[in-house]
Amino acid sequence: MELIVVAILATVASLLTLFAARQWPGDRFLCDTCRFNNPDACHKRDRPTAIVCASYRTNANVEQISK
Ligand code: SF4
Repeated sequence: MELIVVAILATVASLLTLFAARQWPGDRFLCDTCRFNNPDACHKRDRPTAIVCASYRTNANVEQISK
């Protein structure tokens, strides 16, 4: 019985992981469009792959490129 429960939990965990991976926006990180995305301007550990950051400021040049 315990083996069945473990198998079900493992299956659910795998499905949730696959679902989350499909929802991820690929290689898009907050830093990609942040004006501080260089080692001199930003010393945060999450750079360059931050997905949440209170210091984020839009890089005007990136906005113009994406239009
Ligand atoms: S301030 Fe935040 S979003 Fe901007 S580069 Fe640094 S970690 Fe990334």
